[in-house]
Amino acid sequence: MRFSEQLIKTTKEIPSGEQSRNAELLIRGGFIDKTMAGVYTLLPMGLKVLNHIVRIIREEMESLGAEEIFMPALQPKELWDATGRWDTMDVLYRVHSPDGSHEFGLGPTHEEVVTPLVKKFILSYRDLPRAVFQIQTKFRFEARAKSGILRGREFMMKDLYSFHATETDLLAYYERAAAAYFRVYERLGLTALKVRASGGAFSDFSHEFQVIADCGEDLIYHCDACEFAENKEIATCVEGAPCPTCAAGTIRVSKAVEVGNIFPLYNKFSDAFNFAIKNQDGTDQKVLMGCYGIGCTRLMGTIAEVLSDENGLVWPQQIAPYQIHLIQLGADDTVAEAAKDIYEKLQSKGVAVLFDDRTDVKAGEKFADADLIGIPRRVVVSTKTIQAASVELKYRATGETSLIPVQQFLDEPYV
Ligand SMILES: [Zn+2]
Repeated sequence: MRFSEQLIKTTKEIPSGEQSRNAELLIRGGFIDKTMAGVYTLLPMGLKVLNHIVRIIREEMESLGAEEIFMPALQPKELWDATGRWDTMDVLYRVHSPDGSHEFGLGPTHEEVVTPLVKKFILSYRDLPRAVFQIQTKFRFEARAKSGILRGREFMMKDLYSFHATETDLLAYYERAAAAYFRVYERLGLTALKVRASGGAFSDFSHEFQVIADCGEDLIYHCDACEFAENKEIATCVEGAPCPTCAAGTIRVSKAVEVGNIFPLYNKFSDAFNFAIKNQDGTDQKVLMGCYGIGCTRLMGTIAEVLSDENGLVWPQQIAPYQIHLIQLGADDTVAEAAKDIYEKLQSKGVAVLFDDRTDVKAGEKFADADLIGIPRRVVVSTKTIQAASVELKYRATGETSLIPVQQFLDEPYV
């Protein structure tokens, strides 16, 4: 993509009203645009990043044997009445039809839709287990929407629901789902902790996946030697105390961003929708459920916060909007031709390239934009590099810079 033709406008200005670093960097770098508090448009580069994140999540959910569906965001009040959550859920947007005849909820989560849906397909214990997931827009009224895309009022989320005949099967799947979550975070370049948390109205416990970061709204108590970690709300230990599960560690307290949560729901929702199956011995038994969420846009915001530096964003290669940020320095014909030639050759190889072909922008500004946008490799074509029959390659993450012969550069597998 040519910079001059893309819907992108970088800026040095800190956007007014934005207090969060993720929104500041993503708006300045041309990834998102703010529509109103907590609601953002994903611009072309932002959507590319989100799509890469979604692809990784989808692959890991499919590895759990889950099937992808797409449920409606617009949900009838009657389903929410069935679980009692119409009156109790404070984040639920409640809307009327224009003629005033019906009320609807805008889905903040989908248990009310997925439970009666899957019930239609499950007749006996032989039909279980089953798991479905979706990647969809969610709506939640957040009283305080000041954390950019870490806490939006409209956002993209992956939610997975599993259905089981026995508790053993539910808990085994729960562990497999947790392992898949760790694979997602690892592939995204994040280090997450699995943190024990309250089970709310559903069960004795749940788990959150937390990334330690100063921007985090949660406090976690975690061991510095083993995997023990608890959310502040249920913490049973204090800072500096010895770890209750291993002899060697000490409890630390850290701010963290929640990047996923998993709940064993047991029969909370199958009770509400009378979702039961015939057991082997002919008796009726309630189906047991689990639910598993990852905020996709929140992950993008977390990566923007955690993997950035004072100059801008630093995207991991797996989710970067482009693999190469090609910069043409100077407007003379030789440089323009050489840069265009490299751009076209990379494109023909299927490499995703952002080609800064602007001729009315100074070198310093192009370099600052490259640092702000955070594509893994910056490649400069200038009179100097042409004289050396080379290009200048700089890695965004390490700052490592070198001159590489043009052909050698083109032969690398930058996909
Ligand atoms: Zn420990």
